[in-house]
Amino acid sequence: MSAELQDPRFTDETAAREALEAVVWPNGPVCPHCGNVDQAKIAKLTTKSARPGLRYCNECKGQFTATVGTVFERSKLPLTKWWLAMHLIGSSKKGISSHQLHRMLGISYKSTWFMMHRIREAMRTGGLAPMGGEGEIVEIDETFIGRKEGTPKAKAGFGHKNAVLSLVQRGGSVRSFHVDSTKKADIMPIIEKNIAKETHVMTDEAIQYRKLRNKFAKHDAVDHGRDEWGYTDRRSGTKINTNTIEGYYSIFKRGMKGVYQHCGEQHLHRYLSEFDFRYNNRSALGVEDWERVSKIAAGITGKRLTYRRPDEGAHA
Ligand SMILES: [Zn+2]
Repeated sequence: MSAELQDPRFTDETAAREALEAVVWPNGPVCPHCGNVDQAKIAKLTTKSARPGLRYCNECKGQFTATVGTVFERSKLPLTKWWLAMHLIGSSKKGISSHQLHRMLGISYKSTWFMMHRIREAMRTGGLAPMGGEGEIVEIDETFIGRKEGTPKAKAGFGHKNAVLSLVQRGGSVRSFHVDSTKKADIMPIIEKNIAKETHVMTDEAIQYRKLRNKFAKHDAVDHGRDEWGYTDRRSGTKINTNTIEGYYSIFKRGMKGVYQHCGEQHLHRYLSEFDFRYNNRSALGVEDWERVSKIAAGITGKRLTYRRPDEGAHA
């Protein structure tokens, strides 16, 4: 780690900017105002008064840098600190707290808090093709975390907690969703939209999953209520369990409790993006540290964020 921290992206603002341009513009600068990609009509402004990295578009006469129109827009923080923050978030399995990052980066807690949410937004993926497919297994499960705002501590049940639905492909990726409830009406549209019909799905015995066999190639369930944690299908040799998704939830929960000490309900989806991203870009899938960080950096485009200041409302 210490040798890595000497990387020019963390220490040299010009190197940091050029590295960011390389991932945001893999085929050369793109004008965010008019979409012009003709490199002959984009010039680098090098006058003394020009901001470093400033480009001029001959098509629309507009000016831009690599961060215009991204989640880094309007940030006054040096890009070296953005790279360091992306690196630390990308490589910390259970996440990293705003307080710790604030001390490590030497910037204010508020700035760090905003920075982290922008990085989580960069980690968000969306509009993906369905997961699973023929011969693939997707485990489906739900978990509960935190308490819904304005609800008193309930004596039993999960009605007062925030519900999360996750779909995990064995040997592949995860997708998590903050859902209103685990009732069929809230989860079935997500399940059907995100999992290919040819998939073998596995769940526990919960009542909302009973009719899944009508929607997918195969559905098996383990009965956790009877202390059944899994079995092997004798004919196919397939292991029937939801161990993969339970492993994922254990990392998520340890991170949310231990590192983030829970979060406001309105931010839960962002934390899910963070944990999903790390799982989907883990070294077991062949994604190493710098590649993971570059993927976060590439994700800053095409997203817009507006935030209340952290002192104006609940935050984590
Ligand atoms: Zn333009």
